[in-house]
Amino acid sequence: MTTGLITDAQNTWCPGCGNFAIEHALKDVILRLEAEGTPREQMVLVSGIGCHAKMADYLNINSFYSLHGRSVSFATGICMANPDLKVICCVGDGDAYAEGIAHLLFAAKRNVNMTVLVHNNRVYGLTKGQPTPTSPGEYHSKSNPYDTGEITFNPPELLLSAGCSFVARGYSRRGKELKELMYAGISHSGFSFIDILQICASYLDKTEEYGGKVYVPLDHNPDDFDAACRLVREYRYDDSGKIALGVIFRKERERFHVGVPLLQQDYGDKKSFIMRFIDGRR
Ligand code: SF4
Ligand SMILES: [Mg+2]
Repeated sequence: MTTGLITDAQNTWCPGCGNFAIEHALKDVILRLEAEGTPREQMVLVSGIGCHAKMADYLNINSFYSLHGRSVSFATGICMANPDLKVICCVGDGDAYAEGIAHLLFAAKRNVNMTVLVHNNRVYGLTKGQPTPTSPGEYHSKSNPYDTGEITFNPPELLLSAGCSFVARGYSRRGKELKELMYAGISHSGFSFIDILQICASYLDKTEEYGGKVYVPLDHNPDDFDAACRLVREYRYDDSGKIALGVIFRKERERFHVGVPLLQQDYGDKKSFIMRFIDGRR
């Protein structure tokens, strides 16, 4: 490993992949947090399985390469064990919106103190382009030769419904804004969710479409839940409507571990507490 933030691991993302921009945005945010006094040891990256998950190989930071769809569960455990950590989950759209959807929604409902960055390229890129819950209905590929014919999930709307206390949307080709969103999300106390529209250069390159549709609404008030609902309904991931970027909704509410009395107790030495806990159940 290098002493810097990018490791020596060979990068195997396809040329033009949006993951590069997401990686560099996150790298800059980590450096900013470090410069402001958060030691790198206080940050943990948890990834799922997919092209995005290689972030755990490429960033020189404490990380946990978890299971497909389960990264939010692992991250919840890390948050419970050490509430002082800044826990960042990098997940894919197939990863988080299909297998992992229940974990995602319940962590948002509980307001677990973590940031979830969804690399939403709207396909399963690593396994050759199968459709995910956010693939357009007319999407087809070699592995699914016919249109899916399904409606798409609208992830920010789902998260708003789940009670998520920070909902945002970024775009891999809008790096400056993406960094600000990541910084705001990681600084938020509680569960923060950022759906990042990401270009998949090999299977679903939406550069042209996104370029013509993304915008930053100047008069949006993220404290206004109803306004947030209206904003996310402008775009239903079905290739119609304009795509608003930025913080969609933000609300301060109690973090999960603060609201659970058992987790507030001072147990002293953690190892001896665990041993006492296990012995008490034998
Ligand atoms: S398959 Fe798509 S998401 Fe995966 S590395 Fe290639 S361009 Fe990136
Ligand atoms: Mg994907």
